[in-house]
Amino acid sequence: MRSDRLLVLVLTRRCDRNCGYCPQGFDDADMSEGVLDAAIDGLLPRLASPARVKLFGGEPLLRPDLVGRALARLAAVAPGTAVELPTHGKGLPAVESLLARRPEVEVFVSRPHPWAARLRGVVHNFLIPPGEAPAMTARRLASARRLGYARFNFLPAYFVAWTPAQLKGLSAAFAGLRLVLGRWAAAGRPVEVVNLSRRGSTPLYNDGLVVDTDGEIYNSNLILADAVRPHRGRLRLGDVLNCGLLAARPAADVSQVLSDAFPAGILASTRAVDAALTEFCLSLPAGAAA
Ligand code: SF4
Repeated sequence: MRSDRLLVLVLTRRCDRNCGYCPQGFDDADMSEGVLDAAIDGLLPRLASPARVKLFGGEPLLRPDLVGRALARLAAVAPGTAVELPTHGKGLPAVESLLARRPEVEVFVSRPHPWAARLRGVVHNFLIPPGEAPAMTARRLASARRLGYARFNFLPAYFVAWTPAQLKGLSAAFAGLRLVLGRWAAAGRPVEVVNLSRRGSTPLYNDGLVVDTDGEIYNSNLILADAVRPHRGRLRLGDVLNCGLLAARPAADVSQVLSDAFPAGILASTRAVDAALTEFCLSLPAGAAA
């Protein structure tokens, strides 16, 4: 008996950005409507409650039609299911009216577009790159707050190399952010640190039932990382179009695949920034974040 609560639907493997820190591997492949329908109908009922669905990519809003189809089908099969939609944000205006009718959708936007700040419950994925001056990090946070963002998911760049000096800078950046959050809370304007409500066995990626564009099912969206391509089969759980979930467990656990796929130096940096993020979250003063 599986106890997954998250269904990740990889609507497309394409992205129209090329962020230097992005670990994803891209392909010219989109999910078919048949795979999408089979994934929702076949796997959603197998999730433990409360279930969540993540509409993922690539950049999922390169296929707004699939986003709309997924939301319509979810509303029919399991109304009110919580949905996450991570995006760089460029395609959001095209789905504004759709999102207005779907309060269950939580948009995670990586670029703080002024327009997106007015979306109900929007979360800003706040990336911190190696080498950014701590004062600049604090200024970016204040700027996003001024635009109206009140929910933040802090993400130091994962799966890239950080030097010892850059790691020291990250600790200083987190110390600065802690002060800013504390000041806002004292002024009666606390923000939500979304990291506090999310857990996973690997940095950045999610555990759950993950359906790739071709209908293959995996137990983590770690399989989307370029470095993990040769190891994908070790995390395979089945195929939504052929027999669904396999009874057998995957050949390896996610942490083992992570260790086997990435160079030791990149893994060490990733673990170090993840530990710094955890310490930041745990050390937020009471009331500094919802
Ligand atoms: S981080 Fe997001 S927007 Fe940037 S290249 Fe990767 S998938 Fe695309």
